[in-house]
Amino acid sequence: MEMDQLVALCKRRGFLFQSSEIYGGLQGFWDYGPMGVELKRNVREAWWRDMVNGHNALDVPPGAPSTYEMVGLDCSIIMHPQVWKCSGHYDLFHDFMQTCRQCKKLVRADHVAEMLKESEWVASLGTVLTRGPDDSLLDIDAEALLKWAKSKGRKVAPGLALVRKPEVTLSCLVERIASSPSVPLGSGELLSYIATEQLAVTGLQAPCPHCGGDLTEPREFNLMFESNTGAVRDDNSKVFLRPETAQGIFVNFKNVLDSTRVSIPFGVAQIGKSFRNEITPRNFTFRSREFEQMEIEFFCRPDQSRAWYQYWRDRRYKWYLDLGLAGDRLRLRDHDADELSHYSVGTADIEYAFPFLAPGEFGELEGVAHRGDFDLRSHMEGKLVRQGGELIVEKDAEGKPSHRGSGKDMNYFDDQTKERFIPHVIEPSAGADRATLAFLCQAYTEDEVPDEGGKAAKRVSLKLHPRLAPIKAAIFPLVKKDGMPEVAKEIYGELKQHANVFYDEKGAVGRRYRRQDEVGTPYCITVDGQTLTDGTVTIRDRDTLKQWRTKKDDLVAEIRERLR
Ligand code: ATP
Repeated sequence: MEMDQLVALCKRRGFLFQSSEIYGGLQGFWDYGPMGVELKRNVREAWWRDMVNGHNALDVPPGAPSTYEMVGLDCSIIMHPQVWKCSGHYDLFHDFMQTCRQCKKLVRADHVAEMLKESEWVASLGTVLTRGPDDSLLDIDAEALLKWAKSKGRKVAPGLALVRKPEVTLSCLVERIASSPSVPLGSGELLSYIATEQLAVTGLQAPCPHCGGDLTEPREFNLMFESNTGAVRDDNSKVFLRPETAQGIFVNFKNVLDSTRVSIPFGVAQIGKSFRNEITPRNFTFRSREFEQMEIEFFCRPDQSRAWYQYWRDRRYKWYLDLGLAGDRLRLRDHDADELSHYSVGTADIEYAFPFLAPGEFGELEGVAHRGDFDLRSHMEGKLVRQGGELIVEKDAEGKPSHRGSGKDMNYFDDQTKERFIPHVIEPSAGADRATLAFLCQAYTEDEVPDEGGKAAKRVSLKLHPRLAPIKAAIFPLVKKDGMPEVAKEIYGELKQHANVFYDEKGAVGRRYRRQDEVGTPYCITVDGQTLTDGTVTIRDRDTLKQWRTKKDDLVAEIRERLR
């Protein structure tokens, strides 16, 4: 499937629209249309039901070290600024970004290589290069490069040094090849040479994936959106839109303990909006500036935390599989030691092979992290840093805590063992929008089915899991007469009490089927002539296209059973 096809379907059938589209759109922001809003609600509800209120606190689930409880929270988006100072987001929530000196666009330093691979001008340049089987460059044809720079290059890479100053740039490249002929020139090095205008002054430069222009050195950029509370806009009134939902859970740890009867081990779940001023929002909703997270903070005894980490890692992976993501496109990847945050004992990402990524590449759907006692201790003692394997409170030049904690006791007292300790935390942190996008990508299917005349015709369908499908069943009278609409409307009214169903009497029944296939409706129910004589209706399955008859009176039970 090409991503463009899915994006077009999402717009055409009301799943996703660009935010503020009539004003040209706002990059990194998306609106869910009538179908999308149902789909994303179903993703959130499946998560909440499976993780929180459908969880049986009295049984040990398969793979879990013991029974446990789950409760929910819904915290404010704007919190006390000290929350972000102690959590580390204020000082550390940075990305390194580079600006193109030519087109002025910003790109995230760690995205440049990936973006260059997808860049239009790099693809165009590739056509004039001769490559070996291992993708190394066998030969540089200076004449062909020059020709490209003066023709196609001007259109696709106006910022590239080779295009702006072809002779100077090319001479440096030729000199490099002549001076070390035995050292083969890799693609990355070639791109840097042709992006560099004054080698002696600047050294090799990195090219902009958009126009080929030279990029500045990476500079830090805080991803938190800022605002102010109250009438006076100064540093004292500055607040931040939360970049994650997790901190709301940590700062309410004691409130949850004191107001419920939960005891360790237990989890607190939250679904809500988060905001990050991403430098390069792209890939549809995958990297947005406003998005929704579904996070759990699971509090447990330190000596059991590894077992719980393993449990959540495996359980969360299985959740995506159970809802239809294919095993060969979903993977669980343990972070290498050098990828781990300074406090983390272990982190695994659940990743999906999104179609907009290069073959073999995966994008993060969810991170499952063992966070130790880092967060609760930070909110108790102040911002922590690691020193010689120990987590200690960060001090300023005068030796005072750089960001003071709340001073509130975050210890847990275990009634049974009579021990006091700061619980360890396992954090499965998922994105509702990324999950929704993955389910859409997985569901998009093109096949051929016979049309009304019996000829094979292309069909687009969304093979969504019935729990996720925006509309669960559509009810059609075969024709708009002979009492069929009346019966169909009666069935619609009954089913509507149990599920989101849809009534449609317009146009040929084949076209009505196709419309439902495109939005992923798993069942279509048709009232026809036979219904009026024997009280049965036809049910058609979206995926198998099988049709069968069921008694009208058994319909509610059958559809409910099939949707489970
Ligand atoms: P990435 O490396 O892709 O920026 P991250 O590691 O910073 O992601 P986390 O901070 O672990 O992400 O956030 C948890 C989850 O929230 C991610 O797995 C993802 O599903 C979701 N998420 C994070 N950033 C975004 C975003 N900009 N747009 C949409 N979803 C996001």
